[in-house]
Amino acid sequence: MNAPTILTGDRPTGPLHLGHFVGSLRQRVALQQTHSQFVLIADLQGLTDNGSNPQKIRDNIPEVLADYLAAGIDPNLTTICLQSALPALAELTMLYMNIVTVARVERNPTVKNEIAQKGFARSLPVGFMAYPISQAADITAFKAECVPVGDDQLPMIEQTKEIVHKMNSLLPVPVLRHCKAMLSDTSRLPGIDGSAKMSKSLGNTLHLSASEETIHRAVSAMYTDPNHLKVCDPGQIEGNVVFTYLDAFHPDKEKVAAMKVHYQAGGLGDRACKNELEACLQELIAPMRERRAMYMRDRGELMAMLKRGTERAQGVTQATLREVKVGLGVPVF
Ligand code: ATP
Ligand code: MG
Repeated sequence: MNAPTILTGDRPTGPLHLGHFVGSLRQRVALQQTHSQFVLIADLQGLTDNGSNPQKIRDNIPEVLADYLAAGIDPNLTTICLQSALPALAELTMLYMNIVTVARVERNPTVKNEIAQKGFARSLPVGFMAYPISQAADITAFKAECVPVGDDQLPMIEQTKEIVHKMNSLLPVPVLRHCKAMLSDTSRLPGIDGSAKMSKSLGNTLHLSASEETIHRAVSAMYTDPNHLKVCDPGQIEGNVVFTYLDAFHPDKEKVAAMKVHYQAGGLGDRACKNELEACLQELIAPMRERRAMYMRDRGELMAMLKRGTERAQGVTQATLREVKVGLGVPVF
């Protein structure tokens, strides 16, 4: 039996951060051993809310690539490719747009939330509104069955399933494959400011390339329990970002469990908890920072690697497009 196929990706809107690491990257590194994995740098999707700043998207392509390699994605096991160089994805998007209603796109909770967050109002770009449809094209073009993502992406997977169902029903034989989201244990890492999600757009990130000093400052400023004034006071774990991060990153789960009991009973200070967290983040990030700096020294090689992956992806995505067109009776020359 063939290995199941994975498609996942990131918008090149900035360097990758710890939210990406626990939400998706860590899974990708493990899954590339057992799955046929494609990772898409979604530059066209990045442009949907950066249409006036294409330079930003372009500049961040090698940054994201270097983050992938630094985190352990192996280009010999994973096909890394560029969305804008895969025209089949844009063509499938055009075809899918006709089977999705405006009302359905407007109901998408993630899109609704992002529109409000970005304050678009009447300046909302059509492309941004339609990005869930383009994401469905990405997933289905690769015939992916599994999509390792953070939980903000669940509405996109739901919408993709509906598109697959509808499009297959229009074809004489089903062409598109059903997919499912793969959520990690930490499917939504809060920002270092304690807000709901660490996100490039919100400026509350800790990059995989963060310096020792930046890590130190971020952990020192982290929100704990505002009522935990004296070390001897009982402390609260819920909503305490330091403990959320200890859960997400500390390799010794038993130690974290013991710290929680101690903190809740009183007698464990915030400083000690932060020291423990800082030590584990320093240990996690330092080797990635070093590897990343090494990869960034040769941007030409990074882009050559991306070109090789994209060429491989062209064949796969063109084949799916052709099957859909033939099924719909669209002339294929
Ligand atoms: P932007 O603000 O430009 O949208 P982003 O930080 O949300 O950037 P994306 O490129 O949109 O990053 O997301 C790429 C992948 O990483 C998606 O699967 C997303 O769910 C996941 N992800 C992003 N942020 C987090 C987070 N804080 N926790 C868990 N997963 C995350
Ligand atoms: Mg995002």
